Amino acid sequence: MQQADLISRIVSDVIKELNVSQTQLETVSQPHPAEYGIFPNMETAIAQAAHAQKQVARLSMATREKIIANIRKKTIENAGILSDMAVAETGMGNADHKRAKHKLLATKTPGTEDINTLAFSGDSGLTLVERGPFGVIGAITPCTNPSETVLCNTIGMLAAGNTVVFNPHPAAVRSSNYAVHLINQASFEAGGPDNIAVSTSHPTQETGNILFKHTDIQLLVVTGGPGVVTAALKSGKRAIGAGAGNPPVLVDDTADIKQAAVDIVAGATFDNNLPCIAEKGIIATTKIADELIHYLKQNGCYLAKPHEVEKLCMTVLEHNGNQVRLNRNCVGKSATELLKMINITTNTSDEIKCIIFEGDEDHILIREELMMPILGIVRATDVAEGIRIAVKLEQGHRHSVHMHSKNVDNLTRLGQEADTAIFVKNAPSYAALGFGGEGFCSFTIASRTGEGLTSARTFTKSRRCVMGDSLCIR
Ligand code: NAD
Repeated sequence: MQQADLISRIVSDVIKELNVSQTQLETVSQPHPAEYGIFPNMETAIAQAAHAQKQVARLSMATREKIIANIRKKTIENAGILSDMAVAETGMGNADHKRAKHKLLATKTPGTEDINTLAFSGDSGLTLVERGPFGVIGAITPCTNPSETVLCNTIGMLAAGNTVVFNPHPAAVRSSNYAVHLINQASFEAGGPDNIAVSTSHPTQETGNILFKHTDIQLLVVTGGPGVVTAALKSGKRAIGAGAGNPPVLVDDTADIKQAAVDIVAGATFDNNLPCIAEKGIIATTKIADELIHYLKQNGCYLAKPHEVEKLCMTVLEHNGNQVRLNRNCVGKSATELLKMINITTNTSDEIKCIIFEGDEDHILIREELMMPILGIVRATDVAEGIRIAVKLEQGHRHSVHMHSKNVDNLTRLGQEADTAIFVKNAPSYAALGFGGEGFCSFTIASRTGEGLTSARTFTKSRRCVMGDSLCIR
């Protein structure tokens, strides 16, 4: 008997003996979708990441790059699975746009090349300022860009020599943990250590709090809403806080109005308005407001009537006395889904991408960060008033503002007064992520703590290395 036949007979006998049906066997032998680097409790996850960091710290830069190259490759290969998984799990966003986000991060997130050494040489010798790892980073990730944030964070953190413990958003645990699984698979295949990124199977606020307090965590990197960023900043640890935004877009008299409409719709509808950088409200100077609305409608916007706006308010927000909060069932939904929720059925051939309405600067749907393709339009008498309203709507997050204008003085003034981490001019908001704009990609924009778009160098600490009197050979 051939060896293969023999093995097959033995296997079949064992199966019979164990009384395991073929279906059961297939179920058992399927790899769990997220197994590498996922631990049932947070303490074990941290211990494993701490162990792995000792190995990562000794890896050559070339090996770190080899692992990163494989993470990039796996991100591209799995972009479809990760995107479909996130939409199915969270009920939010657009799978095709999520695919594009994964491809973007795979190709434009900086790796080891981002880490530079500074040198001073002179009569007294040579001093180097090198960038070293923090060690083990604790990272909180959002449900809006779940696997994108996990993958993008890991590339930068690993490039800098760190390992990372994730506490993913509970609503996006499967997709986030599948990304962690792929990262460890990529490391294993590239000859790297296990557990370069880890996570827990049941993340909660409590497991997040363990990260905030654990002595083995040297840095916190928090991507999410205001509550979690504030909690991290109170932890007593060094924290990088990438918090909420509510980016307004200002269109003035000098803008290319037709192009502004195209760009605004593209930016505000990308992944159903989930990105923190996406246009969340429009301010238009009175002179061009009607023209802008005309082109917005031409580009797939539905202009809601006042009674429809009322219905939207009651649907997308939950009201409890004086308090309002987002109806999570509406976040990240498409414009047609939102219209259906208020009983408006549109002709499918119209292809509605975004809902627009006119309101004042205090309108609740303009003030709140909705993360839905709903854009309120506020009229401003002139550009000075437009800038004032834009700054007010940004609400001091110091995150993002956008503007369409050909007047450099107007652009400069908004930039100075808003003082945000991101200011996109004459392009869709996603140009800020390096999507159709120059520059690298990041899904963690440290608006609260001022690092701006984070990359590998953000996850390093500075070390000064001094040689007295020698090695200056000028
Ligand atoms: P979220 O704040 O609801 O959740 C983020 C994570 O924090 C989750 O894991 C959650 O369980 C945890 N969390 C919340 N409160 C906590 C606390 N007090 N202690 C410990 N953990 C806590 O955010 P989300 O809904 O997933 O994402 C949307 C928000 O994040 C928006 O406000 C958006 O603007 C912002 N965001 C910012 C960036 C950026 O780069 N600046 C990127 C993406 C999202």
